[in-house]
Amino acid sequence: MFLDRARVAAALPGYDLGDEIGAGSFGLVLAGWHRGLQREVAIKVLPAGGPHRSFGSSEARITASLDHPHIVRVHDSAHAHDLDVIVMEMLAGGSLSRRQAGMGQEEFCAVGLAVAGALSYAHARGVLHRDIKPDNVMFDFAGKVKVVDFGIAKRVFGSAGTASAVIGTPLFMAPEQIVRGRLGSATDLYALGMMLYLLLAGRSPFEGDLAEPVPGERPAPPSDRGLRRPAGVPPAVADVILRTLATDPKSRPPSARAFAVDLAGAAADSYGTGWLGQSGIRVQLDDDVRAAAEGRLAPPIAVAAAAAPAPAPAADLPAAIETDDGSAPSRVGRRRTAQLRQPARSHRRSIRPRLHLHRRGVVAAAGLLLPLAAVVFLAASRCGPASRQIGLLTGHTSWVTAVAYSTDGLTLASGSLDKTVRLWDVSDPSHAHQIGAPLEGHTSGIISVAFSSDKRTLATAAKDGTVRLWDVTDPSHAHSLGAPLTGGAKSLHAVAFVSDAGRATDLQVMAVGGADGTVQLWNVTDPKAPVSFDNPFPAHKRLVYSVALSAEGRTLATASEDGSAKLWDVRDPLRPLPLGPLPEGHVGGVHTLAFSRDTRMLVTGGKDALVRLWNVTDPAIPQLWGRPLTGHKGIVWAVALSQDGRTLASGSHDGIVRMWDITDPAAPQPLGPALTGHTYTVASLAFSPDGRTVASGSWDESIRLWEVP
Ligand code: ATP
Repeated sequence: MFLDRARVAAALPGYDLGDEIGAGSFGLVLAGWHRGLQREVAIKVLPAGGPHRSFGSSEARITASLDHPHIVRVHDSAHAHDLDVIVMEMLAGGSLSRRQAGMGQEEFCAVGLAVAGALSYAHARGVLHRDIKPDNVMFDFAGKVKVVDFGIAKRVFGSAGTASAVIGTPLFMAPEQIVRGRLGSATDLYALGMMLYLLLAGRSPFEGDLAEPVPGERPAPPSDRGLRRPAGVPPAVADVILRTLATDPKSRPPSARAFAVDLAGAAADSYGTGWLGQSGIRVQLDDDVRAAAEGRLAPPIAVAAAAAPAPAPAADLPAAIETDDGSAPSRVGRRRTAQLRQPARSHRRSIRPRLHLHRRGVVAAAGLLLPLAAVVFLAASRCGPASRQIGLLTGHTSWVTAVAYSTDGLTLASGSLDKTVRLWDVSDPSHAHQIGAPLEGHTSGIISVAFSSDKRTLATAAKDGTVRLWDVTDPSHAHSLGAPLTGGAKSLHAVAFVSDAGRATDLQVMAVGGADGTVQLWNVTDPKAPVSFDNPFPAHKRLVYSVALSAEGRTLATASEDGSAKLWDVRDPLRPLPLGPLPEGHVGGVHTLAFSRDTRMLVTGGKDALVRLWNVTDPAIPQLWGRPLTGHKGIVWAVALSQDGRTLASGSHDGIVRMWDITDPAAPQPLGPALTGHTYTVASLAFSPDGRTVASGSWDESIRLWEVP
């Protein structure tokens, strides 16, 4: 398409035009700048004449009517002479087809949930996309998924002109789209399923891939007879996707939301309940989809659930509602709609009824329980003065997964799924601020950070399967200490240093836990030339969530998604000796653990929302210390101990930090009321060395500093 820039500029007087970003079948896209709002935009220019006359204005109108976090935003549109111009948000992260090479299965599934959310929203407003494919799924600057190109989208009950041609992209077109039959939400689901199949399997599900149609001829519709599970994809995930590829739309999931719930649950079963966070893909999901993705059986905050409005019904377009030539839905179509609005299979069944039962139970019991809860709360808060928030650190653009204090307490390090590490000057916690620019280098989200005991080195472990060591001797000039360290695991989730320089030797040991259940020990005495002691050893059956080394360097503790926490004698790091698992594990995964500095106590937190204290004075015979600490309403993702061993902090999926007085570990007491402020999971906690401040990192992208009373 020849572009007359002067004409585009005349149509958009408030904008500066930049370079061409790309071209599609009908038009092209330019970078642009809104001078008044000082905002970068993307400007799509389409010829208004000819057969595609209606596309520009219809795309602008339809897209502008959709206000959803996973649908590209349209800011403006204009028509000048023979041009249609659409001004959109700039999606600087590129398209899924461009990024897919560096992505893994969990990331593809997370993208699938985001696209399903966008479709569910659009379908509920009577809009079919009709061209879902990797080119039309993009990412913004922060990595958020956006569905684009509603160029051939259709308002199902609208009076748009008849589309007489078979339009769409052949490989992604459902059989009914190819034969110009009735289209419905199942048509978009077919395209989404095909996209996910291609991404996960790397090939088409059909024997001979569908060929490009000969002009004027329709391609033959595929048949589901030859459908097969893609190799290497967990059967549960594969089966959910295969259902969307059924030839008969009635055999596909009844709605985009039902599909999302099923896919989320299958992914949680297959990749572990932390899969969504670890994927690093930023998604905003409906409550039931998120619950399925996190393998949760109950909402995190019971009282909040009671007060919350009931979730919207599985909003979706009436299934099979229109022929491609725009005719109105038939009675049969409407009847079928009713039939198809059934509860979804598997995960939807397992989660929904429990939510409802729970809600009814909470409402019924609220009158009795709330006064009681108030008494318990008051009693608890009398056990000690309240902690208070004294700092809020913002800047990360995705979940904060890790925080750690340097041994002098002057610097806090944070790691995030935004792939950056940030250093913060916390010498005065009420005026904490970021030091220098974020440290970049990891190519995927960071899950764990740890300082060496001499405070000169910071280690960061990430989903890209590497550990990076950073020289932080002068935090304002922190820099990478060479090539990233790799082990066997594709994704690393935990890193720890021996935390005390008072070892008999100068030997500095670092432990790293991987998504494949292995742990690797490194000699980092010279952080510029780290050496692995041996190959990673198989510590657990599933992902290692957390590792900790006792201060004298004798014992390693590991916690895993497989439900166990284990102790290892690592006095000879070349030959770690198993000391056995902790006798009574958490129900479900063990997500976090921490040693007391005197090495006598180990604290664990898990999926069962409990915190347990262990007497590990003799690590060969660990014993439970008193009853588990209760109060959290979701997975305990983080625990931390003050250096004097008297205070414990725990953080959970319920977004709450709890402080405990554990002076007598056999009878811990709540230390003041629960700390509220975070709006999402508290994923990491750290005490300042003087024990006066606790830092909490959260999936709400912030870090909060709390004064310990
Ligand atoms: P077709 O119209 O044939 O399906 P297409 O989807 O690639 O092709 P366009 O939607 O016109 O066509 O997009 C053209 C190019 O511009 C693509 O490379 C796309 O990645 C890029 N692009 C589209 N929208 C944006 C946006 N909002 N921000 C940044 N780049 C964009």
